[in-house]
Amino acid sequence: MNVLVINAGSSSLKYQLYDMKTENVLAKGRVERIGMESSILTHEVEGQPEVREVSEILEHTTAVRKVLDMLTHRRFGVLRNIDEVQAVGHRIVHGGETFSESVLIDADVKLEVRKLFDLAPLHNPAHMMGILAVEANLPDVPQAVVFDTAFHQTMPKTSYLYAIPMVLYRKHQIRRYGFHGTSHDYVSKRASEYLEKPLEKLKIVSCHIGNGASCTAILGGKSFDTSMGMTPLEGLMMGTRSGDLDPAIVPYAMNKEELTLSEVNSMLNKHSGLIAISGISSDMREVVQAMNEGSEPAKTAFEMYVYRIRKYVGAYAAAMNGIDVLLFTAGVGENSDVLRKAVCEGLTFLGIELDEARNGVRSGDPRRISTENSRVEVLVVPTNEELLIARDTYRLVMTAKEAAFDE
Ligand code: AMP
Repeated sequence: MNVLVINAGSSSLKYQLYDMKTENVLAKGRVERIGMESSILTHEVEGQPEVREVSEILEHTTAVRKVLDMLTHRRFGVLRNIDEVQAVGHRIVHGGETFSESVLIDADVKLEVRKLFDLAPLHNPAHMMGILAVEANLPDVPQAVVFDTAFHQTMPKTSYLYAIPMVLYRKHQIRRYGFHGTSHDYVSKRASEYLEKPLEKLKIVSCHIGNGASCTAILGGKSFDTSMGMTPLEGLMMGTRSGDLDPAIVPYAMNKEELTLSEVNSMLNKHSGLIAISGISSDMREVVQAMNEGSEPAKTAFEMYVYRIRKYVGAYAAAMNGIDVLLFTAGVGENSDVLRKAVCEGLTFLGIELDEARNGVRSGDPRRISTENSRVEVLVVPTNEELLIARDTYRLVMTAKEAAFDE
């Protein structure tokens, strides 16, 4: 079965086509600048040069049609016919309290996802446009949705409630939801396979450190606590997001600087974090380079970023009364040996011992970077959210088929 994985944003749409027999990616790409002048479709097939097509793509339905045209293109395509797309899986950022696992899409699911627009106004409406666009182009193909929040629905109340009036939770569902769930789920399972130890027996702190970043305490395979909150703004310092701060700063800064709600939102989400402190970039590579060239602000930004990760690792080790595995994933976590070294250096009291030679090795596979004597296994596990979406979609479609066959 071929599964097309879609990640739709408001002006972009990323795709990967999987052959589920081999779990190989047949093709992948993205459409950018949807609704703007000169939209760009970039299409990649392994072993072939990248294809770029510039055209006018005004909305998501046309974007999906262009993707399907490319997948079946005489020269650049990998399918003979669009019938060979047998299922579609979508990434959805917010599943609220409604969705604790992936589901096949039907009218009820669409209704529930719409009800959650308020909780993720920048993301969920865009995902819905992706769903409707696929429906318009492939009306008979089953679609599934996989939620970034679903993995965290196992958190206990003590982790997910904020200590504010309960009416805000009851009336407006204000609570911690957590994000990057697909990634934390995937990498923790990979870690257990790699270590050949059952997930149920492990206390894992998973650090997904990319442009967005979050730490999750995973107890016996289940999310126990996570650093992102009701929105992806809470927790670690990120590329452009502030992470944790005293909430009283918000009204204070708004008053002093005469900021509107949308300005303060944009300040905390887009103009904070690494970019704000370094004054150079939100990209860790550039911050590290500037630090190595002697920039003081870059050094401060790097040290703050590392310090906050370390604080969360310590907090989660305490929350779970122990830690067996510390794992790093995503763009920065997988690629920056400098960052991993700096985080681990301050965690020797937990029994963490980094092997510098192992830490310097690059590989696309899970690997141990701690010494043989380290009490905690420190791993780098490359994440693959698209593969998990494809697997969930495949499983749901096959289960539905079997159920229909039994009837
Ligand atoms: P992600 O959000 O997981 O795609 O991660 C993107 C981020 O990974 C970028 O903003 C880069 O800062 C970071 N990144 C990628 N490669 C490296 C590297 N070699 N060293 C440090 N950071 C990196």
